[in-house]
Amino acid sequence: MQDRLSRNHLRLTDLMADAGYSNGYNYRFLEKRKITGWIPVFGKFRPQVDGFDYNKETDSYTCPNGKKLPFRSLEYSAEGKPLKAYWTTRSDCTTCPLKQECIPKAGTKRIVKTIYEEEYQRAYLRQHTTAGKRMKGLRQGTVEPVFGSLTQYYGLDKIPVLGIDGAHKTMLMAAIAFNIKKYLKCNPKKVAENALHKAKDYLSEQLDRFTCLLGAEFGFSFT
Ligand code: SF4
Repeated sequence: MQDRLSRNHLRLTDLMADAGYSNGYNYRFLEKRKITGWIPVFGKFRPQVDGFDYNKETDSYTCPNGKKLPFRSLEYSAEGKPLKAYWTTRSDCTTCPLKQECIPKAGTKRIVKTIYEEEYQRAYLRQHTTAGKRMKGLRQGTVEPVFGSLTQYYGLDKIPVLGIDGAHKTMLMAAIAFNIKKYLKCNPKKVAENALHKAKDYLSEQLDRFTCLLGAEFGFSFT
């Protein structure tokens, strides 16, 4: 998209999407390109681990009993997502008076976080700012109803072509038609005036050409 915009001397600065696009890779991708992502974090994300304070300098958590959970290893989820694991030592927890509430069955306390935690935190804070709330309203009011209308009222619940390229073309055509429709609805007077002026210019141009042709063919001259 940025390549296409650059050809018209435009730069993509902000990008809105719903929580379905929330993932650390996307957040980092946008930040690297200096694009502000207005993508709410997915519902299960928790900005804090209750009772455990995080220290960025030491990259470690401190538990309610004052014991440290340093970063210990890089792991991968079943889907291959990179994760950072922190845990206490067994000796820290064995004698802890809070063990029954904290880790009744385990020997150590483990915290596992995505490697994109900082990007998630920034996205989370952003979505709770005034601008973030405004962007959410804008997305819900302008973008999301389009898919609903296209699938519910314009027959795009099925795309009758084979292959992703064909589906892409169909969606682009639908988007163009939908935008024209919105534009007409938004500025009916302005659109009608523009259309009238364009029609007038076109007819006058055609008339000039026609009279020139007649003049050349039959030697008429029009004044
Ligand atoms: S059980 Fe371990 S992690 Fe939990 S509070 Fe006690 S020392 Fe901290």
